[in-house]
Amino acid sequence: MNGRTRWLGIIGYPIRHSLSPMMHNAAFEVLDMPYYYIALSVEPHRIRSAVNALQSLGFRGFNVTIPHKQRIMAFMDRLTPEAALIGAVNTVEIQRDRLIGHNTDGRGFTRALREEIGCSVAGQRVLLLGAGGAARAIAFQLVHDGIRTLLIVNRSSQRAQALARNLLRSSVRCAISVLPWAEKALKTGAQGSDIIINATSVGMNPYDPPLLSSAFLSPHHVVCDLIYKPPVTALLKQAQMAGATAVSGLGMLVHQGALSFEIWTGRHPPVDIMREALRQALMT
Ligand code: NDP
Repeated sequence: MNGRTRWLGIIGYPIRHSLSPMMHNAAFEVLDMPYYYIALSVEPHRIRSAVNALQSLGFRGFNVTIPHKQRIMAFMDRLTPEAALIGAVNTVEIQRDRLIGHNTDGRGFTRALREEIGCSVAGQRVLLLGAGGAARAIAFQLVHDGIRTLLIVNRSSQRAQALARNLLRSSVRCAISVLPWAEKALKTGAQGSDIIINATSVGMNPYDPPLLSSAFLSPHHVVCDLIYKPPVTALLKQAQMAGATAVSGLGMLVHQGALSFEIWTGRHPPVDIMREALRQALMT
């Protein structure tokens, strides 16, 4: 680091557990680029002053994580269409005095599926578990990318209904429905789907029960868990037992980060290096 170093970072609260610095700095090192990425703890009531400070200090951009992804939108000069549709920003690009809000979560997810297992979502039937921030980003991307049907299941059904209503406003081509958070509905939903996505936080705790039993799954299913720690959740174990394709959240984490990297630097990052840096960090 010296006077020529260009700064990037991530703001969140808490931020201690963020793996993004390892992933980005590994890529900058391999490419010998003069960038450095840091994690910054920003309390919710200090978000405005933190954004002003990053701008004044000449940061090229920054990532945004919980709990700031929605509130940060108010400070943007422009939102990309996907960030506006999703209603959240995870990547800020600083162009001189202008702040541009992007959201790379949805594209990171579909790019991970394409690049890691060669799966294109167009024409597929999807069961989405969850209706929080990540589910929302993924749902908009899936609908945009031409999935055939989307079934949403969430513990609080009001949240699922609200997401379905918003999605229907932006697409008339995809059939979207909400199922109750109940075993029978999950079974029907799984059996009528090709891709199943867990976008809830159930599974982060190693003692969490699987959301779906292997009895509801078949070898044709692609089962994705957004969770990356543990790398194989209870749901992914059930998928493996059924002979389905099991995909962990690590790919999405890598690819949403790679898309941010491209926005800030205009270069394609070494995705394998980023993935390996994350794997190492997750082992410690
Ligand atoms: P949110 O807090 O916005 O949403 C949480 C979701 O989990 C909601 O649908 C919530 O349901 C559901 N949920 C929480 N606890 C339970 C429970 N006990 N039983 C049933 N449902 C529950 O979080 P995010 O959307 O940001 O994150 C969701 C998951 O995705 C997390 O595990 C996160 O780590 C992961 N993630 C992974 C990323 C990656 O790059 N791989 C990126 C972003 C997130 P309700 O609405 O009823 O509360």
